[in-house]
Amino acid sequence: MAKNNPELGREVNKYLDTLGINTPITEMVKADREEKLDRITDLTHEMLEVLGLDLTDDSLEETPLRVAKMYVDEIFSGLRYDTFPKCTTVENKFSSNDEFVLEKNITLYSDCEHHLRPIIGHAHIAYIPGKKVLGLSKLNRVTQYFAQRPQVQERLTQQIAHAIAYITDSKNVMVVIDAGHTCVSQRGIKDTQSTTVTATCLGVFGESGGSLRKEVMANINRR
Ligand SMILES: [Zn+2]
Repeated sequence: MAKNNPELGREVNKYLDTLGINTPITEMVKADREEKLDRITDLTHEMLEVLGLDLTDDSLEETPLRVAKMYVDEIFSGLRYDTFPKCTTVENKFSSNDEFVLEKNITLYSDCEHHLRPIIGHAHIAYIPGKKVLGLSKLNRVTQYFAQRPQVQERLTQQIAHAIAYITDSKNVMVVIDAGHTCVSQRGIKDTQSTTVTATCLGVFGESGGSLRKEVMANINRR
């Protein structure tokens, strides 16, 4: 059984385009894997040489190819539409329309697009299933898909929320991300303690005066 659904990936990305919240992606994303590996290997080699490293050293020799494979196959693989996870939904027989499902503490590893340094934290996703219910692990997989791009945390939060809304046909989705940015802790201001919290609240979760958002936040904060 295939783990990915390229067709759904195209649909979801097109939907994010219409909302103006997709990652700026060019046609180059469609180039084949070998071409990307070759070029990134050469460019990484050159960059490290310019920094003054001796790439003939046997410890460094393979680094450019290792970095290229890591970018293309792992940490930036979510730039491609065809790596979008398969997200089978089932008919909702379980919940009425005021009950939410919350999956909290989804491990999140992404990279900031301003410094290409890791963003490490957790995502929490709540939604009120309409006619369709999504398997819980798919919430992790959708999170991981969008996290595997150079990202801005605000946009990452929006992309996950709107993708879940699209896939489940639910208008009521809430995504909260709490993450530390290594570009803040390791360099610049060097604050190792601060984290950044972003939230996207769609439908009833976004209603002012509504209690659902508070209920979700209280659940997230309960360890
Ligand atoms: Zn940064």
